[in-house]
Amino acid sequence: MGAGRGYVVAAVLAVVAAAVVGRGPKVDLPPLVTVASMPRVVRVVLEPPNIIPLRPARLQAREPRGPYEAVLAPYERWVHPIPDNERWLPGAPEGRYGAVRGGDRSERCGRGHCGIDLTAPRSAPVVSIGDGVVERVEKDRRERAGWYVSVVHDNGRIASKYMHLDFIRDDLVPGMHVRAGEWLGSLGRTGVKQSGPHLHFEVQIRLSKTRERRVDPEPLVRASEVIDLLEMKVP
Ligand SMILES: [Zn+2]
Repeated sequence: MGAGRGYVVAAVLAVVAAAVVGRGPKVDLPPLVTVASMPRVVRVVLEPPNIIPLRPARLQAREPRGPYEAVLAPYERWVHPIPDNERWLPGAPEGRYGAVRGGDRSERCGRGHCGIDLTAPRSAPVVSIGDGVVERVEKDRRERAGWYVSVVHDNGRIASKYMHLDFIRDDLVPGMHVRAGEWLGSLGRTGVKQSGPHLHFEVQIRLSKTRERRVDPEPLVRASEVIDLLEMKVP
């Protein structure tokens, strides 16, 4: 009787293990990622992009009309940079765009925080928020940005930056085309001195070849599509 029950338990465990192993994405994830530990994600319906961007007041006056109408153009598919079962948003006031920061900070962000900090678990996959072309792949741990990737979208009118990565995909090089939801690297803490691992995420509107304007990415991540790990576009 006891032995019979043991077989049943073993069989159930085997089925569970097979289910867990079988649902991983077809991608060589960096060593720290345990794909089996990543929860499945339910597709989330897009919220209407009617959220007013939070910007430092002194920048607001100079803001060209409706950058987010461009960013959220209906023909584009924008996805959240962290595929997960949660819509990661800045978890603390200091993680929001424009938050007061020390040190030498860009005038373009009102000398405040130029992006948002998403404090998801370390080594979580980070994906491109939209179709685009890789602009920079930087692997210098001495940089304040740490290891980072920037991608340009919409014929170069918009750029997205993903900073403090622990790992960047080996084949990622400038000029390479990536799709919305395509894996770029892993959330980490390169270049981070005081806080824990997080993704510093920035969005820039390129006004011309030499002029750019950073905008608050929070409305974009609030309105973006949350994708399943299984939907990640991989090479
Ligand atoms: Zn940051």
